[in-house]
Amino acid sequence: MPEAHDAQRYDPNNVFARILRGELPSDRVYEDDECIAFRDVDPAAPTHILLIPRRAGPVSTVGLGEQDAGWVGRLVVRAARIAAEQGLAERGYRLVLNAGPDAGQAVPHLHLHILGGGELGPFA
Ligand code: AMP
Repeated sequence: MPEAHDAQRYDPNNVFARILRGELPSDRVYEDDECIAFRDVDPAAPTHILLIPRRAGPVSTVGLGEQDAGWVGRLVVRAARIAAEQGLAERGYRLVLNAGPDAGQAVPHLHLHILGGGELGPFA
């Protein structure tokens, strides 16, 4: 299906690619050789951090395969560490990975939302 294929094609000019290249500012809270984390400009919770891999593509979990298990696993572990560093571990937090149009994914670079700092309400 050509549309699905196009949706998985990495756009090197997406907002997060530009943040990674330093072309757009971001309020970074963490970085290492594989990923960076920064505050969401339009927070949906008292603490709302985005964690993104430095690698270009897959653009969402839709394009993941077994070969991605290592870095995706490390990304989740990093999210847990950042959440703890932000003081969210005791009361808890939510990790969200939006994938594709039905989930409202706006930025086509795989990213993990870390949400917390207050009661988040029921979801899923
Ligand atoms: P998603 O809907 O999962 O693609 O989430 C994209 C998120 O990126 C939204 O929560 C936006 O508020 C956030 N966002 C968009 N542009 C920026 C930016 N320049 N800096 C920080 N967060 C951004």
